[in-house]
Amino acid sequence: MSPMPAEKSAYALARYSRSADSIRESLEWVKTHDSAKFLESFYFQYGHASIADLGHVGICWEGISELAATEVEDEPLWDGQAKSTRYQDFAKLGFVTPPEFDEAEAERYRQAGRALLAAYERLHALKFEELTGSLPRPEGMKPDAYERNLKARAFDVARYALFFGIPTNVGQVTSIRTLEKQIRRLKASEFAEIREVGGEAATAVAEAPACLWHESVGGPVAPTLAKYVDPDPHAATASKDLRQWARENLPASPVVPYAEASVELVRPAAAMVDIVASLLYGVTARPYRELYEWAAVASAALRNEVIDVALRSRARYDELLKPFRGGQYVFDIVMDIGAYRDLHRHRRCVQLRQDYSFELGYALPAAFTQGPIRETYQAAMAAALRQYRNLPQPAAQYLLPFGAHGRFLFKMDFAEIEYISKLRSGVKGHFSYRDIAWKMKLELAKVEPDLARLIAATPPWEDDPLTR
Ligand SMILES: Cc1cc2nc3c(=O)[nH]c(=O)nc-3n(C[C@H](O)[C@H](O)[C@H](O)COP(=O)(O)OP(=O)(O)OC[C@H]3O[C@@H](n4cnc5c(N)ncnc54)[C@H](O)[C@@H]3O)c2cc1C
Repeated sequence: MSPMPAEKSAYALARYSRSADSIRESLEWVKTHDSAKFLESFYFQYGHASIADLGHVGICWEGISELAATEVEDEPLWDGQAKSTRYQDFAKLGFVTPPEFDEAEAERYRQAGRALLAAYERLHALKFEELTGSLPRPEGMKPDAYERNLKARAFDVARYALFFGIPTNVGQVTSIRTLEKQIRRLKASEFAEIREVGGEAATAVAEAPACLWHESVGGPVAPTLAKYVDPDPHAATASKDLRQWARENLPASPVVPYAEASVELVRPAAAMVDIVASLLYGVTARPYRELYEWAAVASAALRNEVIDVALRSRARYDELLKPFRGGQYVFDIVMDIGAYRDLHRHRRCVQLRQDYSFELGYALPAAFTQGPIRETYQAAMAAALRQYRNLPQPAAQYLLPFGAHGRFLFKMDFAEIEYISKLRSGVKGHFSYRDIAWKMKLELAKVEPDLARLIAATPPWEDDPLTR
């Protein structure tokens, strides 16, 4: 089938499954009948959501903040690509100022943002100089390839000073069904920019496409969908309710949050305990193990109370929230935001996160060698932290550098551990997530040595700085 507007394709394929016509005949039918009417009755009235899976839409989000991009990408059934921090220089692009700030706050934020970008540029120049000094160009490697590789290596270090406010571009292809959920989720965000881009996407799909391959497919992209994209408040309301419940009911935490990057594997023995721990994970700053151990010995009444609080705001058509989804293996990972941006892209797993903050400190990998490189970075992080604390939440999070640590939960089966650990530990990857991917294998080896043995992961000490 040639490209056609998404709703026409959904109509044609849905009709195809319900009639004796060939696809050619179905397409002829669709050309002369109203797809909006069909979708309204079958998709929206009878809830045949799989019909909307049959029409795909391409959308590019341009100039949105990295914070917004992370939320855009938070879809397991999403296909897309974002601008690379390794091959593009982010110093000249300015940054997004959150609309929540008043003039004085915006000015403080802009000053702090400019300082971080200056550190980014300096770190890149210093690291590039260091690398060219220590890694001479091998014979047979073209000078431009050599320079490109080392520049990419230097960007891997400089990126720790990039922050959530920097602009990026994301191109995605999704089904209408996923897009609809995505827009409803974005419109309920606590961040004004994200609500705004969710609204823009809803408007864009109701109109003719801005970018045409051919005039013949220039009709409105998905006009019917655009009517059903109200904000979906369930996740935000449940999170608020659970947060309050956790504050009032959880015992004081004996655990001091650790600032070191770490990977801890837990194998949940009981689904109910895992769900309760997962519901509380995103609304506290506690490690998953602590919550799991608390939920395992809590009374059944208390566990049910947590579930009831989470479900209180669920409307008739709302799916269960993400923490209700499971995985045989649960990895609780403290990592820098930059590494999370990369690992977040894995879709065959359930991912949860805690609030972004500066509370877990920041990464200081060996690539920040003693001397001007380390000093530039540490001074930039200390200054960003001071300014961050001076700005109101949640918009202050736009100032969080990619070097800041956060706590993230990844639940998956063995096949995805094998996939991530092998792919992400490879020499072409960034050293931050390579280390995590390697530790995932080591954690698995503690409980399932025979399975861990099957993972062909590359240890972090095997390196080839001139390979990209
Ligand atoms: C060295 C390196 C550089 C990268 N650079 C960039 C970059 O510049 N920009 C960028 O945006 N990303 C970049 N990425 C991320 C990359 O594009 C993938 O998003 C990421 O690696 C997740 O991989 P995946 O989709 O194969 O795996 P997962 O999402 O973990 O999925 C595992 C497997 O499940 C299957 N699967 C899951 N979802 C689907 C689906 N919707 N359709 C079909 N099959 C599916 C596939 O078989 C897939 O291989 C980079 C990754 C690496 C390793």
